[in-house]
Amino acid sequence: MRALMYLGTRQMEMQEVSEPGVTPGHVVLKVGAASICGSDLHGFLGKSAKRVPPLIMGHEFTGEVVDRGHGVDKLSIGNRVTINPILSCGRCEECLRGRTSICPHRTVIGIEHPGAFANYVSVPAESCFMLPDHVGDLEGSMVESLSNALHIFDRSLHGFIKSVAVIGAGTQGLLALQVARHIGATRIAVTDMVSSRLALASTLGATHAIDVSADDPVDAVLDMTDGRGVDLAVEAVGHTATQEQAVRMLRQGGEAVLLGLGAEAPMAIDGVAMVNRELVVRGSYAYTSLDFAYSLELISSGKIDVASMVVSRDLEQGPGIFEKLVDDPGDLIKVALVPGSAARAM
Ligand SMILES: [Zn+2]
Ligand SMILES: [Zn+2]
Repeated sequence: MRALMYLGTRQMEMQEVSEPGVTPGHVVLKVGAASICGSDLHGFLGKSAKRVPPLIMGHEFTGEVVDRGHGVDKLSIGNRVTINPILSCGRCEECLRGRTSICPHRTVIGIEHPGAFANYVSVPAESCFMLPDHVGDLEGSMVESLSNALHIFDRSLHGFIKSVAVIGAGTQGLLALQVARHIGATRIAVTDMVSSRLALASTLGATHAIDVSADDPVDAVLDMTDGRGVDLAVEAVGHTATQEQAVRMLRQGGEAVLLGLGAEAPMAIDGVAMVNRELVVRGSYAYTSLDFAYSLELISSGKIDVASMVVSRDLEQGPGIFEKLVDDPGDLIKVALVPGSAARAM
């Protein structure tokens, strides 16, 4: 089969490799679509220690069951599924508390196991979620992304969230914006420096699209909230400066959630302000299976629009697409790699 092989920093090529065999409890999927994650781009740049070359990345994907191993009884050949790629242990204290995304023993398909930038991939049957017929492969490959955005809110402040600031209009920012709208926030600011992304943010429900190359984002968010600050700020960029902005955008008692990876230095926290204003600053990592199931429901019921954020490209173009996404993404927000029609030799 064909696979997009990560060979080292900024080195990727299409290779002919052997297909995965079927093992007990697992199914082999013919990949439908596999989206490229920001964390895959970090990996491509050699900034993800967990991604050890040679590796087939790809953890946001759909597929059709073409083979099933011993003990798999809930899936049949021909079923279309999307996959929660996080394999947590189920036994440690974090797992027992329901915090499976931070299980210290977790591994991830596409990071520690071969992923879906290929014609075929083997996955545990337990990790599969059935796709309704009307949900296409591109949308299905976005279920994982939306799960991350849901996890932010799932673990957030109690009570209504009326005002939200989202820093960064990439995939996660645009999804967080839509979740904020979905749960009833009436003032939603999104900051970015790319005008096409800000335009899309407005289309998707941002009440204030703030161009940081023209306006100070903290001032603009304070203006939006009559000087009070927002209930919730979501940092979806991953820079030290934007993490600090998120905290400065909060109302008294507000909460900043950090999602972006790759900050160059530790952020500075004004401890006295945190005490006096009862601020909360926390991180959000990945998602649980509950988030994943809800994400699929929101997409299949049309409550969240993911179709306008994702475009498809042929898997064979993978190496060039990775180069473009790190050097000059332009209007591209999310790209899903779709394998051509290679036949399976078995
Ligand atoms: Zn991802
Ligand atoms: Zn665990």
